Amino acid sequence: MDFGLQGRKVLVTGGTRGIGRGIVLAAAEAGADVLTCYRTESAAVDSLVAALKETGGDHHVIRADLAEVSEVDRLVGEASDRFGRLDGVVNNAGVISHIPYADLAVEEWHRVLDTNLTAAFRIVQQCLPLFGASGSVVNIGSRGAAAGIPLRAHYTAAKSAMIGLTRSLAKEYGSRGLRINVLAPGVIETEAMEQMPPERAQGLRDMYSGKTALARLGTVPEVAAVALFLLSDLSGYVTGETINVDGGI
Ligand code: NDP
Repeated sequence: MDFGLQGRKVLVTGGTRGIGRGIVLAAAEAGADVLTCYRTESAAVDSLVAALKETGGDHHVIRADLAEVSEVDRLVGEASDRFGRLDGVVNNAGVISHIPYADLAVEEWHRVLDTNLTAAFRIVQQCLPLFGASGSVVNIGSRGAAAGIPLRAHYTAAKSAMIGLTRSLAKEYGSRGLRINVLAPGVIETEAMEQMPPERAQGLRDMYSGKTALARLGTVPEVAAVALFLLSDLSGYVTGETINVDGGI
């Protein structure tokens, strides 16, 4: 499908693994020029760089730890220097941990909120001057934010706050052509699941498949396709929305 993204300049955070990687590769294949970031050096970084070289286009993979505001600002500076403008931003980088609320340390609360929420706030703010007459921001939330998940109070608080941020910014910046939406995945099968012991991965698949109308987990390309739709003009009259990509959980 042609999303009309040829030559569009797109910043995707956390693009080396999982859903972010899928969005980076799908956007590049759709003709966009993509700048993405990661926190940790790994084989995933090298393989993404190699895959993007194969795809063609003007792509950049940069190390930046988005838990630090100074690093967020440096990342946006790189996007400005290399592209001169932006047409789309995907706030994807996220971290999660499983901790009983009674034991949740304030440092862990801050780590999860800084990476999932504060980075998105700061990225959109710093990117404002880079958007022209139109632009699209896709904030990757979580279907679990609306449902609530035990042991993830910090994570669901951050992802729920993303919805308020999105709705307010949609109203504040809609008149200058900026659209901003949340894409809320359900349970998606990423390579993280492949790295688990097989019995544990199968247990998770069975448990979460049983909760969805489609009786299966989602795939990274299925999430990436909705991200491309939201980045593209095909969704030109969609803003302030939360789009669940959750198989009917
Ligand atoms: P992964 O853990 O597989 O990948 C996360 C990516 O973000 C990696 O590239 C990672 O880089 C990067 N990243 C994490 N922290 C930072 C940081 N501080 N600075 C820069 N980059 C960072 O995540 P998923 O693909 O599973 O999730 C992606 C998004 O989707 C998240 O926002 C998550 O909350 C959301 N989501 C995922 C679901 C799922 O089922 N997978 C369900 C619902 C929501 P590095 O390798 O260097 O750490």
